[in-house]
Amino acid sequence: MRSVLDMVQARNAPVDPAAGLRAARGKPLAQMNSHQCRFPVRESAGIIYFCAGAVHFGEWMPGKQLGCYCRFHRQYLRGCLPVTEEAA
Ligand SMILES: [Zn+2]
Repeated sequence: MRSVLDMVQARNAPVDPAAGLRAARGKPLAQMNSHQCRFPVRESAGIIYFCAGAVHFGEWMPGKQLGCYCRFHRQYLRGCLPVTEEAA
């Protein structure tokens, strides 16, 4: 089980198995396009890396709950709201 501390430090992040290594490595915000998942997967040298999985057109709803996540992370977050919501 992932603790709140793990979450804050972006440790043990759940990663979409279908996305594999790409998702586990993640991307810093500066290298991301707008329609990419904002779920933090790890932290390194003070930089947060995000899932960056594709968010389908029509599912990208910044400002809305779960509007900035890929399908996998939206599904994951639905299971453990509200603690994870502020990590975005
Ligand atoms: Zn994601």
